[in-house]
Amino acid sequence: MTVQTSTGLRILVVDDDESVRGSVAYVLDRLGHQVIEASGAAWALELFDRHQPHLVLSDVAMPVEDGYWLARQIRERERVHNGWTPVIFMSSISEATRVAEGIAAGGDDYLTKPVHPVVLEAKLHAMERLRAMRAQLQAVTEELHRANRELQRQASHDALTGLLNRRGLDDHLDEALRMCARTRSPITLMLCDVDFFKRYNDALGHGAGDDCLRQVGTLLRQVARRPMDSVARFGGEEFAIILPDTPRSGARMLAQAITRVFRGAALPHPASEVASHITLSGGLITCDPGHGLVAAELLAGADDMLYRAKALGRNQFVGP
Ligand SMILES: [Mg+2]
Repeated sequence: MTVQTSTGLRILVVDDDESVRGSVAYVLDRLGHQVIEASGAAWALELFDRHQPHLVLSDVAMPVEDGYWLARQIRERERVHNGWTPVIFMSSISEATRVAEGIAAGGDDYLTKPVHPVVLEAKLHAMERLRAMRAQLQAVTEELHRANRELQRQASHDALTGLLNRRGLDDHLDEALRMCARTRSPITLMLCDVDFFKRYNDALGHGAGDDCLRQVGTLLRQVARRPMDSVARFGGEEFAIILPDTPRSGARMLAQAITRVFRGAALPHPASEVASHITLSGGLITCDPGHGLVAAELLAGADDMLYRAKALGRNQFVGP
């Protein structure tokens, strides 16, 4: 009775001696594996690339390039693709130094010729176990990476609107300031606030308030839609827009577009003093190339302008 082995592996068998190749292939075939044969190392490497075997069984001493060369080539390729194919040497050489050389070249195990079928089968088992463990480890690592990316996304985004949150804004603003300093282009920051939002909540409830904030976020995203623009929920009912490569004239046009879009959307506001629909007050500040403002100065400047917009009667944008 034979031990149940993992079947269906694609195995590359390399030996310049046809009788060795034949007898090993015979055993593997009987165990249900698919065998690919090569009589030399260079040809074996080509077959390796072409068929991506699960395992390589290779002779050591061969004309031209030997088995160690083959193992080194395979490891070099896998270093790039982050893979691992077990390589088992078949050799009559039994001196310890040669064995060490083979492992150093990237081999995983040694079989002594003549290869005994039972030993071969046992080694296949061991290698298959290692391969499965490695695959599992890779799956867990990938899952960890995915979870980390998701955590990072959550840490920088607002759950309600899906926009950047305060922390995401800080990161993007720093990055945008660096980029604009490098390219010597102006950058504009806009802070805006939903007018009479507390009254909206009091009149319609917090659920409606949340819906309103989501819609405001969507509308702002529609206006600031260049890939480099960032829209953030700055807090409560306050939003921030980072506009890289945008001078004062462009910023003013964008502010007009926001007012227009909100007038067009006409989201009803039953308790506003300035309109029958949701409106925004906003403050703009533009940093010209070479002025080297830091994020905190830009935020403070935009906040000043926002305060002025409110003082002037809301439903408007004010810039310096
Ligand atoms: Mg040989």
